[in-house]
Formats: sequence, structure tokens, C-alpha cells
Amino acid sequence: MQLVFATNNLNKLKEVQQLIPAHITLLTLKDIGCDVDIPETQNTIEGNAIQKANYVKTHFGYDCFADDTGLEVEALHGEPGVDSAHYAGAQRDAEDNMKKLLSELENKDNRKAQFKTVIALHFNGKLETFTGICKGEITENKSGMDGFGYDPIFKAEGYTKTFAEISLAEKNQIGHRGKAVKQLVEFLSKV
Ligand code: IMP
Repeated sequence: MQLVFATNNLNKLKEVQQLIPAHITLLTLKDIGCDVDIPETQNTIEGNAIQKANYVKTHFGYDCFADDTGLEVEALHGEPGVDSAHYAGAQRDAEDNMKKLLSELENKDNRKAQFKTVIALHFNGKLETFTGICKGEITENKSGMDGFGYDPIFKAEGYTKTFAEISLAEKNQIGHRGKAVKQLVEFLSKV
């Protein structure tokens, strides 16, 4: 089975590839000749995941799935949420985003947060969505060199290390994207 994963993010690709069984060949946007920045203009994480999957299905005709992720911080009423990528501005810079978030949370006791991933799948003429949530907290400082995005400042519940300090396999086991991908794999195993 061939399936397009509608992303240009190599970190996401690496995470997802670890969880996809060998009989499913993942094609990237590059593989199908899609070199545009797919629009993400909806005001929900789910809406953006669906918009990205729709784009590939409509313009390229492939069965495909897309992932959209946001970091929801309790003390900030769910922000940055759907705006996670451009939280600190249009440059979409991870360092700037983390700096802004740490400064917004300065002197705040409640550091509870969750990552939320929605995967939208176009398969056999139907659209399905799968949601994965990982609860945790925002640390006081950045820590760790691995991962991407907000990983250096997010610690999953019950963990003393940030997502940037644990292995990819461990992140996949407890993380938001891993949880959503496992549901996707389960769904595909039944079709
Ligand atoms: P998007 O899903 O690519 O739109 O990501 C939204 C924002 O969340 C970007 O700033 C990403 O870097 C960040 N992000 C997405 N997934 C993760 C993750 O697994 N860990 C940390 N940051 C992430």
C-alpha cells in the first residue's frame, strides 16, 4: 500500500516512519512533485489537518494523510494552540517561539500544557481523523538537543526529562503524534 504523508517536516516524517508497518510505503510531498507550502488557514488544529489532506487529494489525487499539531497551555487559555508555528511571528522560528512562551509564563505557577495532534486521512473516498494528546508541563528553561519545535521546553506527565532529552522511540510511545499514528495504523489494518 502506498500513502502520501503531506508534510515537509523531516522530523515528523522520521517519527511517523518508525510507527508505520513495512507493508505501507510512505511517499513524501517531494516524491509526488508537490513543492508548495500547503495552506493552513483554518482556526482549529483539526481544520488545518483536514485542509492539508484535502489539498493533496484535490491537486494530486493520492490517498494521503496530514498531521497538524499545537501546544495548548492552560494558563494561556489554550494558546498558542493552532498558532503554535507562528506564535512569535511569521518567521516561524522555534527558538523565538520558545522564548516567547517562556516569557509569557514567567512567574506563573500553573505550567500545565498539552500537545495535540490531529491526523486527517483520505482513504478509499472517505475522510477520517485521529487525535492524539500528550499532557505535561512547560519547563522553566530549555533542556536537550534532540527533537524539534517546542520539545526542549515540554516535559510529559511523570517524566523528569524534556522531549528533547528522550529518545525518538520513547517520544513516540508516549507522545501526541505517536498516539494519533497508532490509531491511523489500527484503522488501516482493518481496511
Ligand atoms: P505544525 O503541525 O507543523 O503546524 O506545527 C505547529 C508548531 O508546533 C510548529 O512550531 C512545530 O514546530 C510545533 N510542533 C509540532 N509537532 C511538535 C512536536 O512533536 N514537538 C514539539 N513541537 C512540535
